[in-house]
Amino acid sequence: LLKKLRAVFIISFLGLMCSFPAYAGEAKTITQFSTIDALIGGVYDGIASIRQLKQYGDIGIGTFDALNGEMMMVDGIVYRVSADGGVQIPGPDETTPFAAVTFFEPDRESSLPENISMQELAKAVDGVLPTLNFVYVLRIEGTFKKVKTRSVPKQSKPYPPLIKVTQTQPTFDFENVEGVIVGVRCPGYMKGINVPGYHLHFLTKDGKAGGHVLELTTDHVVAKIDRIRNFHMILPEDSDFYKLDLDKDASREVTAVESGK
Ligand SMILES: [Zn+2]
Repeated sequence: LLKKLRAVFIISFLGLMCSFPAYAGEAKTITQFSTIDALIGGVYDGIASIRQLKQYGDIGIGTFDALNGEMMMVDGIVYRVSADGGVQIPGPDETTPFAAVTFFEPDRESSLPENISMQELAKAVDGVLPTLNFVYVLRIEGTFKKVKTRSVPKQSKPYPPLIKVTQTQPTFDFENVEGVIVGVRCPGYMKGINVPGYHLHFLTKDGKAGGHVLELTTDHVVAKIDRIRNFHMILPEDSDFYKLDLDKDASREVTAVESGK
């Protein structure tokens, strides 16, 4: 009788597994610290250490305490692209005021057309997504004909709003360069929380340069895409954040700050 029961159990369990669509059992989570509008408003004090960040993912983008450079995490290593264009690997006790990370498990891969711009790349990737209403994390790797990036210099208190900082941001131009882009694509309805559309950070293959991507032209690149269903947000326990008016719409500032225009 036990054997029979076990057989019935195994059969019904298999049936259950097969009846779910591929995504249903998946609980992929992106974890985000703070909100983009808080960063826009000058809340730059670090709220999570690199050590803590790594508990939530091995890939992602963000910035550092006091806005000290652009952050990129790839293959579990955190890189800082400083305002002078150099790259450092910050220690585990350095902190971030804003970052979004996940454990990368791409569910699709797509070769992108050669010679396309950042706007065309966005359209091409949009074209292979099953819906635009989820968050996606991307790893775009290969050779680029052109990449233009920027970084941000470390700020001191009282912190100026981000739009003031990016008005004098240093930019870096790369030509015929090999490297990797880590990106997050958020739906428009997430405005205020994260950047609507594509937010991309670049690191050269030698790990010596990179930054927040302003423009690019592809050569031979492949995009790996991870669809994210769960959104986990951790807010700053910090007086600057408590006092900030986050009810106003900062969309225009976000676009200006992120696109460099
Ligand atoms: Zn950025």
